[in-house]
Amino acid sequence: MNIYLDMDDVLCDTAGAYLALLAREFGLHVTFEEVFSFNLQKSFGLDDAQSRHLFDRAHKPDFILALKPLEGMRKVLRNWEERGFSVSILTGRHTSAADSSRQWLEEWKIPYHSFAMVDKYNWSGTDEAVAISLAQLSCMQFDIGVEDSPKMADYLSREMALPLLLFDRPWNRSYEPCAKSRRCRGWQQVETAVNDWLAGAPPAD
Ligand SMILES: [Mg+2]
Repeated sequence: MNIYLDMDDVLCDTAGAYLALLAREFGLHVTFEEVFSFNLQKSFGLDDAQSRHLFDRAHKPDFILALKPLEGMRKVLRNWEERGFSVSILTGRHTSAADSSRQWLEEWKIPYHSFAMVDKYNWSGTDEAVAISLAQLSCMQFDIGVEDSPKMADYLSREMALPLLLFDRPWNRSYEPCAKSRRCRGWQQVETAVNDWLAGAPPAD
């Protein structure tokens, strides 16, 4: 059993930290439920310079290391570890955050088997020696995936035919997952969905 896990807003509360950063840097107050688009520049109504500043700031080690794990995540990952499941963490963060991302996993004692940066979103300045491409990702074998990004949910479920658990977030509410997908509201529902899937029930809403 090999489980694909995204990192931001699946393992940790990145959007919450972005909202705090937005208030600190620009005095803009946006609530979590108002983050309607995965494109934060759009969700926050920022110009290009503000967006670049926020993106750079949010990839600095102090920002990454201060991210809080999502409720219940570590307990579920410990349960999976006990059951011998393999957990693969594949993040679309900018490659400049590779070391701090690994450090965050270590500091929070997150049990996992592999970690990789994936060029999911074509960020400029991506270090191709650090991130694998989507084509390389598509050659990897997983049994089930957990994502919050509509683009990646689409890629995993349609291109890779992977059963998908869509981690419910305001920015993916208008996304229509394909048949072998289930929307999960929190980690308890992710654990239940994996158990159901193992018991033979395909993930489906
Ligand atoms: Mg994410």
